[in-house]
Amino acid sequence: MSEAPILSVVAPCYNEQGNLIPLVTAIREALEPLKIAYEIVIADDYSRDDSWNILQKLGAEDQRIRAVRLNRNCGQSAAVWAGIQAATGRYIATLDADLQNHPRELPRFLEAIQRGDSNSDCVCGSRVAARAQGDFRVRQVSSKIANGIRNSITHETVSDSACGYRIFKRECVARLKFFKGMHRFMPTLFRIEGFVVTEIPISHHTRLTGQSHYGVLNRLFVTIHDLFAVRWMQKRMFRFEVKEQINFPRTPRV
Ligand code: UDP
Ligand code: MG
Repeated sequence: MSEAPILSVVAPCYNEQGNLIPLVTAIREALEPLKIAYEIVIADDYSRDDSWNILQKLGAEDQRIRAVRLNRNCGQSAAVWAGIQAATGRYIATLDADLQNHPRELPRFLEAIQRGDSNSDCVCGSRVAARAQGDFRVRQVSSKIANGIRNSITHETVSDSACGYRIFKRECVARLKFFKGMHRFMPTLFRIEGFVVTEIPISHHTRLTGQSHYGVLNRLFVTIHDLFAVRWMQKRMFRFEVKEQINFPRTPRV
């Protein structure tokens, strides 16, 4: 039986056949020098291309590569969530499968979350500085507007809430609320549960192959509903613990 992983690297995948082998190769190259036990968990969101066949081959060659396939295309949040639930590491890193944000940054994220003085439960990537140096103008502006609206309604200061590149302690996800679109609000959802979230800048590149699954409109407007739901959660959800008990334990009937 192999050692329990310190780190699980989770990637959602929808029609990423050209990116999977470079992704896995880049994650291995980034993590091998650290000499830690790790696993790669890829959640295939019912891809129509050859992604699942490639994942089957990769998994047969290396037990550290694990994969789940959803029964239909459910969207990025569901794929990330399925991957997180399958992950067994003490720390869980998420990143997109298209290499827009490179796995070579993983050691820096691991270092940031393990550093005692940082006190972070979750470290999020921010593409703002990198985008200013070369992303399409329309993406820069739409991202700035989306983050501005999100921050003003949720009273947050997150510069890049939807960035898929993050690392967090596994306890962060125990009570996380899953909903379609949640991947855009993860920093705020973690904070609702009382966790400390910090940001570090990351580099940002064009996709290696394949196409983005979003346009300007579905990115900006689809999230409005979710935004008010998240605001409601911030106001109405709270945490408590039972302090004392009489005649316990007895397992409640479900
Ligand atoms: N993705 C997914 N299901 C979907 C759409 C996207 O699992 O329905 C994955 C996709 O394969 C990629 C990540 O989510 O790994 C981000 O998608 P994309 O690169 O299209 O988003 P963008 O970078 O344009 O924001
Ligand atoms: Mg992408």
